[in-house]
This record gives sequence, structure tokens and C-alpha cells, in this order.
Amino acid sequence: MTGLLVAGETLIDLVPEGHGPLDATETFHRRAGGAPANVAVGLARLGDPPLFWTRVGDGPFGDYLVRTLAEAGVREDLIERDPDADTTLVFVSLDPDAERAFSFHRNGTADTRMRPGSVGDDTLAETEWVHAGGVVLADEPSRTATFDLLSRANDVDDAVVSFDPNARPELFEGTDFVDTCRRAFGLADVVKATAEDLVAAGIADPSADDDDAPALASAVCDRGPHTALLTRGPDGALARATPEAPWNHTDEPLVVEHEGYPVEPVDTTGAGDAFTAGAIAALSTGEPLSEALAFANAVAARSTTAKGAMTALPGRSDVEAMRAETD
Ligand code: ATP
Repeated sequence: MTGLLVAGETLIDLVPEGHGPLDATETFHRRAGGAPANVAVGLARLGDPPLFWTRVGDGPFGDYLVRTLAEAGVREDLIERDPDADTTLVFVSLDPDAERAFSFHRNGTADTRMRPGSVGDDTLAETEWVHAGGVVLADEPSRTATFDLLSRANDVDDAVVSFDPNARPELFEGTDFVDTCRRAFGLADVVKATAEDLVAAGIADPSADDDDAPALASAVCDRGPHTALLTRGPDGALARATPEAPWNHTDEPLVVEHEGYPVEPVDTTGAGDAFTAGAIAALSTGEPLSEALAFANAVAARSTTAKGAMTALPGRSDVEAMRAETD
């Protein structure tokens, strides 16, 4: 059994029918969302069903999320129901260029109430890879619970810890996003980020963009992780691995790039999460870094071909078919 564990929020995205500001939007579609949930479903579709530690309300929105995750093949053992809290709702609005804005309804909701120690030592001992994202670090007790998980995972021999800042600094009211990222990077072996995430995390200059990926990857590795995965939207991704990384068999930092796969994107929501799922699926099964980057780009490109973050998350045969056409 592969021991993959994803931790963090799942929530209801209310996606507008058309474009325009929130105050002018009348019709929304309900979608299961949350970056870690997208990663968990992405892994399940690729044939590596992970454990997913999350917490949702005890009402109908929670029922819908649990059902959706189970139908996608995510293992349910660590999905908690909270009788005293609602499930997070996020209203999405799209401007005419399809740029997204988010309005989070997340005060005291279930995903902010994850508690330290819910993942037992026995479970963690069998885990080869633990992945978490930044949103659950905004509120207590989920912040302490997630940091506790990451530090305990660090003590498990050969377990890999990955982190995606998923920058939403506006959610960090009582805590500082920059300090939070510094601490999370210190506990992570692998960081997946965009230039925008790294600007918000205080690691990159505000003018930094995708062209700065080589320097940004180096700056990430200076903070502790042995591997940095920088995604660049339609232009693919760049990875840097220090000699400490298990997928670098040289004495020098290894830097690889892949230009991505050309698709006609319908909806890029969650493309970064699809990339993360592809990278974890490849690296956790011993693929070289260059192959992991190509595979992750293919998973991510394929995920943009239908509306909804989870809808077009592909299976391995879909990815192989797409790569056979392009490579
Ligand atoms: P999101 O926030 O939407 O989850 P992100 O901002 O974290 O995404 P991006 O760098 O935009 O991450 O995209 C992640 C990956 O998705 C890219 O590395 C690429 O492989 C793929 N991708 C994104 N947009 C496109 C596109 N237009 N065409 C092909 N592939 C794309």
C-alpha cells in the first residue's frame, strides 16, 4: 500500500454562472473544492488513493463533500464531521478576463477546527508522503494541528513532506502569512509554488514573475526544502533539487524545466493542485525529476479542459494519451 496523506480544507465553491462582480451575480453552481481536496482527488484518479485528513460540518454541505470525495476514491478514514460547526463556503466571481476573486465564509467553520493528534503515530509511521497547503494555517486550532502533523512527519524515516503556500494572505488576520510560510518551508522537503505565492510569502520581490523561476527556486531551497517546484501557467514548470533530494543522484543542484502541454483551457481553477497530484504520484513511485515534471504538467494541462477544479482531473490512461499525441 502506498502511504500518501493529504491534509487540509475541503469546502464548497459557489461558482458564478457568468462573469461580473459578486453583487451582480444571481446564479451559482455548487462545486466541491479546497486545494488539498483537489490534490487528494487528483491522486485518487491517478490510482494512488490517499488518506485525506480534513473536517467538515455535520450538515448537508458536509454530506455532499464526503460523498463527492468518497466517489472519487479518496480514503475516508481521516475525514471528520463537526457537529458544532458549518462547512466553509467560498463565493467565486470572475471578471471578463476570467480572473477569479474569492469571498470566503469561513468564520469558525469545521476546517478551522482540526485538532492536533488526530492522525495517530501508527498511521504516520506507514506514511511515505504528507502534503499540506497554506489555508488551514490561517486559523487555530487547525494551524497548530497542521504544524504538529508536519513536524511529526519530519521524524518519520524517509517520509517526504510537501507544502503549497496557496497564498491567501487576506485570510491571515491574527497571524502573519510571511512568518507562517517561513515556518512551513522549514518543515517541508518539497515546496510547490507560483511566483505570486512567493511574493506573498515574502521570498520574492513584488516585481517577480514566471521568468524569475530559476532564482525563485533557488530562494525556496535556501529556506530549507530540498526541492522547489515552480509552476508557470501555460509555460509549464521548473524544478530545482539539491543533492539532499532522493531524486538527485549528483553532487550539484539539479535544475529541470518542462514547457508544458498545449491545450485549449476551459477553466484553470485547481491546475496547480492537479500539478501537485501529478508530481507526488510520480516522485513517490521513484520517477526521475524530469519525468515527474513532464507528468505533472500533463496532469495539470488535462485538468484545465473542463469546468470545475475536480471535473477533468485525469486518470493515467488520459495522461498517457495526451502525452503520446504531443511528445
Ligand atoms: P491554480 O491557482 O489555478 O490552481 P496555480 O496558479 O497554482 O494554479 P499555474 O502555474 O497557473 O498554477 O498552473 C499550474 C500548472 O497547470 C502549470 O504548471 C501547467 O502545467 C498547467 N497549466 C496552467 N494553465 C495552463 C494552460 N493555459 N495551458 C496548459 N497548461 C496549463
